[in-house]
Amino acid sequence: MMNSPLDNLTFDNRFSRELPADPETTNLRRQVFAACYSSVSPTPVANPQLVAYASEVAELLDLSEDACQSADFTQIFVGNRLLPGMTPYATCYGGHQFGNWAGQLGDGRAINLGEVVNRRGEHWTLQLKGAGETPYSRNSDGLAVLRSSVREFLCSEAMHHLGVPTTRALSLILTGEEVIRDMFYNGNPKPEPGAVVCRVAPSFTRFGNFQIFAARGEIELLKKLLDHTIRTDFSHLGEPSVAVYLAWFEEVCRRTAAMIVQWQRVGFVHGVMNTDNMSILGLTIDYGPYGWLENYDPNWTPNTTDAEERRYRFGSQPQIAFWNLAQLANAIYPLIEQVEPLQQAIDAYKESFEQGWQNMVAAKLGLGVYDAATDDALNTELLILLQLVETDMTLFYRKLALLVMDVEQSDDALMAPLLAAYYVPEQLSEDYKERLGNWLRSYIKRAQDSGISNAERIKTMNAANPKYVLRNYLAQLAIDKAEQGDFSGVNELLEILRHPYDEQPGKEEYALKRPDWARQRAGCSMLSCSS
Ligand code: AMP
Ligand code: MG
Repeated sequence: MMNSPLDNLTFDNRFSRELPADPETTNLRRQVFAACYSSVSPTPVANPQLVAYASEVAELLDLSEDACQSADFTQIFVGNRLLPGMTPYATCYGGHQFGNWAGQLGDGRAINLGEVVNRRGEHWTLQLKGAGETPYSRNSDGLAVLRSSVREFLCSEAMHHLGVPTTRALSLILTGEEVIRDMFYNGNPKPEPGAVVCRVAPSFTRFGNFQIFAARGEIELLKKLLDHTIRTDFSHLGEPSVAVYLAWFEEVCRRTAAMIVQWQRVGFVHGVMNTDNMSILGLTIDYGPYGWLENYDPNWTPNTTDAEERRYRFGSQPQIAFWNLAQLANAIYPLIEQVEPLQQAIDAYKESFEQGWQNMVAAKLGLGVYDAATDDALNTELLILLQLVETDMTLFYRKLALLVMDVEQSDDALMAPLLAAYYVPEQLSEDYKERLGNWLRSYIKRAQDSGISNAERIKTMNAANPKYVLRNYLAQLAIDKAEQGDFSGVNELLEILRHPYDEQPGKEEYALKRPDWARQRAGCSMLSCSS
């Protein structure tokens, strides 16, 4: 028998080898005490079918194209077969959901297969999402439907190519089995195709993995997990000690700030920033009812479950990340027992965020260095203008690069390159045009004063303002097709989103503002958590 090209994958499962395991090995839902994880195998499925895979992620694992296209690949990454070295497990974590402590959550539908070591010596944890029940599945089935899996697969890769820190997605595979979901939570459950995504990241450890041990007073375990985390993913900080715990926390703060700056840059709204959905590596994790800003609106959230309070709206993401970090600080406090240095470390978030945000604003406007004296006012006025009339955020910034840099033009002439960004042209009143015209003139003067050449301005802007993002309706169109058995939409989007800053002639239809029909359609504007 031929050996499979997948047999070459080498595993070094540090998490499951070095941390305490749940002694119970039955797959029954329960509270798991005194353990970081429970061993559990994926549930085999009837008829798996590969929908898509990401070659770049395969490369991280040293997997060839042939390997990805082999029948083994589909069997393995749907969870039907384990490779030698895989030790599947689900981790125990808790979390604050919508501001309230929710107790034990855990990997309810995620099963880690192990940590691959690639040729460069990097460790990459493989995790199947939707491969069946675990001890943490609570009152649900451990499964995932195709629509949410397409969204997770495409968005992980889109974010990576945009330069946003994120977990990756290797593969998207249909299980051939049906999953029952009541998509609108309105008493109309129906069968949908089931799917499994294989996610890949250096680690999937969340704030909630630390919180659960602190909440239960399992301080020894808390220390073990933190020491392990430092020795594996933060080894540059040195051997664990109280000083290193503080340095670690400060680094988590800085990484989280850097991630949120990037979300705000590209108009990404996570939708469920619970502490169990926050990665300690500062990666975007758990793509659920996320969305992309179409018209610029800081109050927008895609998540129907959060429609009332809007806790996780676009404009609140920076403060919510800070609140979440404060919960992580509380969780590790027993290992530090001093408030002051923890306070100083968390202040690093504010400082990092502020600095990153200014750099980001300067890059989006092509200004080189942010100068608060002029740019605070310039940017504040811009953000007001973007909200006064429905303005597509992505298109506005991208088109702003095309501005003719001459203040001696009429308002209409000045704003001509921007017209494609407006959803309701009737909203462009004379007053509005005058105000926008004045802003554009101030902007031109500011850019000219900065001494940056126009070519340089355009180059900076086109590297900070993507042309192609995973617009909510584009994902939905690809899902509609995939549900009919046609995977071309998923694969075409994957390809386009590999080069979000390039012009890509012939693909312009993917860079248009949301069509009117998509304004109210489910999946295109608002999403439930059902997945
Ligand atoms: P989320 O907010 O979607 O990240 O999920 C919160 C918690 O619910 C996590 O512990 C998940 O593992 C769990 N969960 C979500 N969906 C399912 C499902 N279909 N089956 C089992 N657990 C789930
Ligand atoms: Mg989650």
